[in-house]
Parts: sequence; structure tokens; C-alpha cells
Amino acid sequence: MESAAPATVIVAIDGPSGTGKSSTSKAVAAELGLRYLDTGAQYRAITWWMVTNGIDIDDPAAIAAAADKPEIVSGTDPAAPTITVDGQDAAGPIRTQEVTSKVSAVSAVPEVRTRITELQRAIAAAGGIVVEGRDIGTTVLPDADLKVFLTASPEVRAARRSGELKNSDVAATQAALVQRDAADSSRKTSPLKKAGDAVEVDTSDLTLQQVVECVVTLVGEKRVVA
Ligand code: C5P
Repeated sequence: MESAAPATVIVAIDGPSGTGKSSTSKAVAAELGLRYLDTGAQYRAITWWMVTNGIDIDDPAAIAAAADKPEIVSGTDPAAPTITVDGQDAAGPIRTQEVTSKVSAVSAVPEVRTRITELQRAIAAAGGIVVEGRDIGTTVLPDADLKVFLTASPEVRAARRSGELKNSDVAATQAALVQRDAADSSRKTSPLKKAGDAVEVDTSDLTLQQVVECVVTLVGEKRVVA
């Protein structure tokens, strides 16, 4: 099948967790022969480094002072994305409950955002990539060729996340998601927000395949009008 995307296209996919962002972004990248960057994994990685190095998560000045220390490297193959911290595989440790509960506090620190945003722009500079996150369309890559903002009802998001976590309590998962959204949306620096020129897609009643088809079609339309 002919790829619907030029080799240099940049697609930004933002939205809160549980909206299908990661699955959609990986599938779109794979289908179009693009690279894939999970920016949430980068914020989780720096959070994991802070936790394992004894940095007090309640002390933004301590976090800011350490923000440049860890070396974070992302592998961008959508079929097998990787993340290492100081050369160590961090894919497992960044998904723990502890990191999930602390990542919003760490990612709200401006020095952390500056550092991670630099990494993201360096990776995206060559183009040919789907980048997923919270502030990609608004701050990191405001000139992206296509910006998509995924949403879903809190109930659907909690049910999806609980399914991923297996056996977890849906009500508790929903409460944690709502709390993390509130923190991510209300922070001063680069909050979770739909870009003015993003296409909003409510995924509540759509299958993953339908969302992927929708985004692939949007990329194709951009190519025609570009
Ligand atoms: O996408 P994921 O749930 O793995 O993201 C983890 C956290 O990383 C988010 O809750 C948010 O605090 C932070 N994040 C961010 N900006 C991004 C991506 C993620 O602040 N572009």
C-alpha cells in the first residue's frame, strides 16, 4: 500500500490518558511508515530518576536543580519503542504506581519541561514522526502538519486504563485519572490543552481501528491541501 504520508510529515497527538493516545499513535506511525515518540514516557523516565536518586518530589527547587542530570534516550520504532535512563532500560519501572502518582508534580517544574522539550524537538527535527503527549500541538511542535486532540468520557477512560492495569479498581482508577488531569491541566507551564488548530476526536464510542482510520485519513487530507 502506498504511504499516505510524506517522509517529513509531523503529526501531534495530544489528550489526557485513557483516550487511546498511545495505541492510536503507534498504529498510525506503523501504518504510515513514520517514527513514534511517547513524550509521557520521557516525563515518567525523569520522574523515575528523581525517585531512585532520592530527590524530594515535593521540592520543586530540588527537582529543577537535578533536571539536567539524567540522560534519557527514546527509541522511536513504533513496533518496539524503547526508553533508557543513563543507559538502563526503564520501560518497566516507569509504569509503576509510584511513578504514575508522582509524574504530574515533576512534569510541572519549568526546568524539567525545558529539558524534555529540547529532547523532543531534537528527535522530531528530521520529521517523519507521530509525537504523542499533552502539549505537543500547543508548545513543543506548534508547526506540526496535523494536530489531533483525543478525548473520551471519564468512565470510558477509567475502564480502558483498568483493563490495561488488570484487576484494578475502576472507581479508584477513575479518581486517580481525574486528579492527574486536573494537575496536568492547571499547571502554569505548558498545561494539557487543545491547540486552537487541532482536530478534536471523541473516542468514547469508537474502536481503536476507527480512531486510527480517522487519523490516517486526516494525514492524507493534509497532504492534499499542503
Ligand atoms: O501519557 P502518560 O500518561 O504516560 O504521561 C504521564 C505524565 O507525563 C502526564 O500525566 C503528564 O504529567 C506528563 N506529560 C506532560 N507532557 C507531555 C506528556 C506527558 O506533562 N507532553
